[in-house]
Amino acid sequence: MNLFRRPAPSLDDLIFEAPSDTSSSDSLMPSVARPPQVFVRGQGSWLWDSEDRAYLDFSQGNAANSLGHSPQVLIKALADQTKALINPGNGLHNRAQLNLAERLCHRTGSDQAYLLNSGAEAVEAAIKLARKWGQLHRGGAYRILSASAGCHGRSFAAMSASAGGPENRFEPQLPGFSHVPFNDLPALHAAVDAQTVAILLEPIQGEAGVIPATEHYLKGVERLCHELGILLILDEVQTGMGRCGTLLAEQQYGVRADIITLGKGLGGGVPLAALLARGKACCFDVGELDGTHHGNALMASAGLAVLDAVLEHGFMDHVGESGVYLGEGLARLAYRYDHGQLRGHGLMWGLTLSEDSAEAVVKAALHEGLILNAPQPNCLRFTPALTVSKSNIDEMLLRLARAFSRVRTAQLQCRKGIAV
Ligand SMILES: *Cc1c(COP(=O)(O)O)cnc(C)c1O
Repeated sequence: MNLFRRPAPSLDDLIFEAPSDTSSSDSLMPSVARPPQVFVRGQGSWLWDSEDRAYLDFSQGNAANSLGHSPQVLIKALADQTKALINPGNGLHNRAQLNLAERLCHRTGSDQAYLLNSGAEAVEAAIKLARKWGQLHRGGAYRILSASAGCHGRSFAAMSASAGGPENRFEPQLPGFSHVPFNDLPALHAAVDAQTVAILLEPIQGEAGVIPATEHYLKGVERLCHELGILLILDEVQTGMGRCGTLLAEQQYGVRADIITLGKGLGGGVPLAALLARGKACCFDVGELDGTHHGNALMASAGLAVLDAVLEHGFMDHVGESGVYLGEGLARLAYRYDHGQLRGHGLMWGLTLSEDSAEAVVKAALHEGLILNAPQPNCLRFTPALTVSKSNIDEMLLRLARAFSRVRTAQLQCRKGIAV
């Protein structure tokens, strides 16, 4: 590509070359913006496209592939379950579902678990559970308070609980939701009224750019819920399953929610989510929850394999140590390139850039063979496999440095082009 012959190259033109082999996406309904590459193979922290180019994956399907691409334990669990029984139907018991529900409860100190297909569905079920509880114990209270810039998924209730989001929110939204600033206890307290039944929060906001709740705040929220007799729902779809260095992020805060949602990392790359409930919050009756693939044996077997791996001796230590190593490397790079604040826990990190160049950096990184994600226009997110190695991290930092340089050079070219 010749940078100088084009009259007014856009930032995109300067940092991004389309690969030659691209399958058509004409028949695909528009949803998310995707680069043209088609990915055909994955192993651990690596992905390969149809031209056999290798990419280091530090997104891992937005933190879904907790054990990386195609880990042996997942291959074996899925193969064994496929041979034995894929789906007896949700009207019949299957062993994988029973085992996973029991083990999740045991390991998280919960009393009941329910398995579903996606994070949004788990949040949806959590909202139903809170409303049911409100009917039983709080005079029909139904309002849910959640945080500004929070993200809980794209189904209607989950979208209504999320602040902001896409331009078209398909109004009208579901009623009964209010948003208050995150990490602001007085604002939250002031927003609670007689109709309020629950507070729904991410312990660390993912889509907002990896913004952790402060310990003072989350403990305060727990106390507030206790004093006012309302429920605390923690959305751990992204932070749970070891992502932050403990099975649940609430453990890092010393907090105990009444209801918890899990998703993403639970399935290790297959669609699986869970709703967990404790004590008084366990109030669903037969017939109130249902879904064709809720508790699907094949997906539950994947969840069991992931849970086993994550609970293995030394696994969380690895997450903690790798997380520190990644954080230190990112801090050095941020300093060298004059970028902003770095936030993270375990293997979930967000870096604020000096300008709104996150999309350009993601594209430049792809060009350098690195897959990243930009939850905000000025923020990069790093959610590698929990099994990521130090050499993977070193290689990622090299490629990210090249991506930063590429964007910087392109920005200078662009400004020159405009000046001429
Ligand atoms: C991704 C996410 C969801 C939605 O999960 P889906 O599986 O995409 O429906 C909900 N809550 C949080 C915190 C998430 O990160």
